[in-house]
Amino acid sequence: NFVFPSRLNGFESEGAYSVMIAASELERKTGKKVIRLEIGQPSEPTPKHIVEAACKSLQAGETGYTLPLGLRALREEIARHVTETRGVAVLPEEVVVGPGAKPGLFFTALSILHPGEEVIYPDPGFPTYKAMAIIAEAKPVPVPMRADGKSFDMQALEKAVSSKTKMLILNSPNNPTGGVMPTEDILHIAKLAKQHNFYVIADEIYSRLVYSDEKPPSIFSLPGMKERTILIDGFSKAYSMTGFRLGWAIMPELLTKKMEPLLVHAVGCTPPFVQAAGLAALRGSQDSVQEMAKEYEKRRDLVVKELNSIPGVWCPVPEGAFYAFPDVSSFGMTSKQIANILLEKGMVAVLPGTDFGANGEGRIRISYVAPMDMLKEGLKRIRETLATLS
Ligand code: PLP
Repeated sequence: NFVFPSRLNGFESEGAYSVMIAASELERKTGKKVIRLEIGQPSEPTPKHIVEAACKSLQAGETGYTLPLGLRALREEIARHVTETRGVAVLPEEVVVGPGAKPGLFFTALSILHPGEEVIYPDPGFPTYKAMAIIAEAKPVPVPMRADGKSFDMQALEKAVSSKTKMLILNSPNNPTGGVMPTEDILHIAKLAKQHNFYVIADEIYSRLVYSDEKPPSIFSLPGMKERTILIDGFSKAYSMTGFRLGWAIMPELLTKKMEPLLVHAVGCTPPFVQAAGLAALRGSQDSVQEMAKEYEKRRDLVVKELNSIPGVWCPVPEGAFYAFPDVSSFGMTSKQIANILLEKGMVAVLPGTDFGANGEGRIRISYVAPMDMLKEGLKRIRETLATLS
């Protein structure tokens, strides 16, 4: 009889992986194709010049251990990129490279949080936020998002801030809502952070995928915020490099010194040929990023229009990332039940909103990264399956 440590109470996997497994199993059993709208990874291949850079690096024998915080050249390139895109000077010494953006989140939590301190994060929100608070023995404090998915319910946020608040996670564009936080709320959160002396983790992994005319600033670039913000970003989404495992975090240099041993013991280093691919991504043409964003905007328009024309469904317009988060509560079932029916009857995989927190009840997350024809077929199946429920 194995007893798990209480430290892991409430520490769960990501729903996306469970649905991925269930959908693959269903395909195997039925021999039919499930339309896969559950996972958050671009369907486009990684741009050729990036793949070639990884191959060249491998062929040149760059296959050994390397510096735990990342290759100097890549840290310099990331510092240049962040300085340019966020409009604040960043030094290479403030850059931590890791295998994905996730280690940046996780190890930041482990280096900053004391047991019992509170972590505010969006509900619905990316499941890693709760997990990282739990593993650091801090208290997860989910704060509801507004129905339009753009921002926290600001009144609820004000109430959630306490003398124990150590960290607030701001994810804009947001996963799963696709919402882009308005400038006034970003300014307000910066004010709260300074007043109550907490850190902000700005998870900007979808920052290159914003479709609105107004592009709100990064909280990192506001006066007095660089020193209390850990900026998280990476290559997975913008360059279609999810499986490469490459991301970065920007933080005060002092904090990088604490991150270093965490990286050393947990992962050692990020593979050098993967970092070579990252260098090529940042140094090379950015056309593919822009083309991908344009294509996603088209898919977004289609998805929102189609979903809103299905009786009983309401879908706010997501202004970023590649997710739609429609309300399906009118069918009188839980989001998990709806997602199961869509998978089993409709052969279309989506995620229940509750995979992202209790406040996601009544919603499902649709990832519109699939190619247009597959997306159209998926939406047709959603329409037909939901019609059998009303
Ligand atoms: N942050 C958010 C909000 C995400 O949605 C994801 C991936 O789904 C990540 C971070 C992790 O990205 P990476 O693949 O770089 O670890």
